[in-house]
Amino acid sequence: MPLERNYADNRILVTGGAGFIGSHLCERLLAERAEVICVDNYFTGSRRNIAHLLSNPLFEAMRHDVTFPLYVEVDAIFNLACPASPVHYQRDPVQTTKTSVHGAINMLGLAKRLGIRIFQASTSEVYGDPLVHPQPEEYWGNVNPIGIRSCYDEGKRCAETLFFDYWRQHQLPIKVARIFNTYGPRMQPNDGRVVSSFIVQALKGDDITVFGDGGQSRSFCYVDDLVEAITRLMLTENACTGPINLGNNSEFTIVELAEKVISFTKSRSKLIFKPLPQDDPRQRQPDLSKANALLDWQPKVALDDGLKETIAYFKHSLELA
Ligand code: NAD
Ligand code: UDP
Ligand code: UDP
Repeated sequence: MPLERNYADNRILVTGGAGFIGSHLCERLLAERAEVICVDNYFTGSRRNIAHLLSNPLFEAMRHDVTFPLYVEVDAIFNLACPASPVHYQRDPVQTTKTSVHGAINMLGLAKRLGIRIFQASTSEVYGDPLVHPQPEEYWGNVNPIGIRSCYDEGKRCAETLFFDYWRQHQLPIKVARIFNTYGPRMQPNDGRVVSSFIVQALKGDDITVFGDGGQSRSFCYVDDLVEAITRLMLTENACTGPINLGNNSEFTIVELAEKVISFTKSRSKLIFKPLPQDDPRQRQPDLSKANALLDWQPKVALDDGLKETIAYFKHSLELA
């Protein structure tokens, strides 16, 4: 059945479905009575993230690496497979680029054969260390092509190129979202991302590792807000291809984030300052005008509330509750 106004009775493929965002998306699609095929090679995701979905007859988990072809019959594809945190994507950088590029080719080939919609989880990293602030979709970015972040940034940029060429060349209905820093329950405790790292450090009473002077900024989006936007984008008319920024536009410095985490966890942890990693963007904030207009959407969860939910999750999962 072609995907139209809702997901009910459609079979949806979610690649990277056992990851942080993917598992929330699978949950949401099941709640909308879709049938969900979750494809994942468990490189950074885990079966634990989807354990609660396995008893649902509408849910199916498939171990598969998207760099290899995949033949399934589905009504729409959400392509999220890719390690997303610097620690993870730098562990095997060649595989990171392959996942973005070969993964996109295979999923686009699958979508083309079936004539179905396909969503791509792109990233604010396509803007690199931005020279325009906040970043609108028209900005082409400032990316180092040969640095330690390039496997992720350039892989995602190439995936965007492939998506737009399949759209121009094969009239494939594509939906490309540039996702900004997202956080929430089911982030991995060891992924090195700032929100998960600070919370775990604070809960354990370890030092909080601020990189650089902590004056660099990010804008943090709670996962439920992001999933709402993604599911809306997929249901927009074919002409609405994106790229479209998705995130939260409340911007905080890394030191401000650390202070919030310490306060909400009532931790005695102290800040320690470590060298700033190479090519670490100085500031980042999405221009959300397009998302507001096209999706009639804006993020609702304030950082304080989202952090409290995420802290509760980590307390429980680290058995510190
Ligand atoms: P995640 O690491 O938790 O999820 C990625 C999932 O993809 C994992 O389950 C992993 O095992 C799977 N995967 C990796 N390589 C694969 C392969 N070759 N074949 C099959 N599965 C593979 O990360 P996340 O934060 O949930 O990110 C999901 C998507 O959103 C990614 O594409 C990421 O680039 C994008 N994104 C995330 C953020 C963020 O802040 N979390 C920001 C921008 C973009
Ligand atoms: N592909 C896939 N599943 C399908 C159809 C295609 O995995 O159902 C893969 C296939 O491996 C191919 C890629 O998608 O290499 C791109 O397909 P496309 O039809 O665009 O190109 P071609 O087959 O000509 O390389
Ligand atoms: N960061 C930090 N301490 C950490 C992890 C990250 O100060 O333990 C900083 C990092 O240098 C960056 C910001 O927090 O400036 C966000 O890092 P993250 O890896 O979460 O996301 P990204 O850099 O990909 O936006």
